Amino acid sequence: MSDTVDALLPLSFLEAVRNVDSPVEDFEAELVGDLRNKRLGLSDTVYMQIRRFNDAVKRGQRTSIDEAVGLARLLGRRPDAEAVFRAAGRHLAGEAYRTTIGGVARNMMHILPAFLARPVALRHARRISRRYLNGRVSRVGAHVYLEVAHSITQDTAPRSVGCTYYEASLKEMLRLLVNSVGAVEHVRCATRGEGTCAWRAEWKPTAAQE
Ligand SMILES: [Zn+2]
Repeated sequence: MSDTVDALLPLSFLEAVRNVDSPVEDFEAELVGDLRNKRLGLSDTVYMQIRRFNDAVKRGQRTSIDEAVGLARLLGRRPDAEAVFRAAGRHLAGEAYRTTIGGVARNMMHILPAFLARPVALRHARRISRRYLNGRVSRVGAHVYLEVAHSITQDTAPRSVGCTYYEASLKEMLRLLVNSVGAVEHVRCATRGEGTCAWRAEWKPTAAQE
């Protein structure tokens, strides 16, 4: 288990690349023609890999950490690495939220007052983080912490750009769960020799939920 990741993780990398590289308008697609196929996100290889990981997700199969790290390195080499890692993090949180939490539970978390919704949301955040990010979620006062002992994106991009993947996941997860829009801070980083990576999110519901 420890040397594998859920297939949704590498899939989120590829989906983000595909989304970022997709031409915005149809006429743009015509203009670039073959050139656009040379871009990583639109190559046949990426499409085939997306299909393969999609199948793995459906079958609940996990992927090797090495393969996920290899894909993270491809993202990390791009000049827009941070934007792609953030898009990937949001994608993972969105898919995990939609596929693992039932509609009734999702609605309840938005209807219930914060003191009832938060413990439920925390449980889901814990489960999602453990399964999809190999991470641990805890709450201390008004903050939610995410700790990742073995980051897949660590050192795959200059400085700690790879860490933005987890940061964006946590932020999106809390936004979807309880509409929390607080800041997320990277409080500890393995790239700085601090052992593990950890993020602290402000647990900040909208006024209606207070
Ligand atoms: Zn870090």
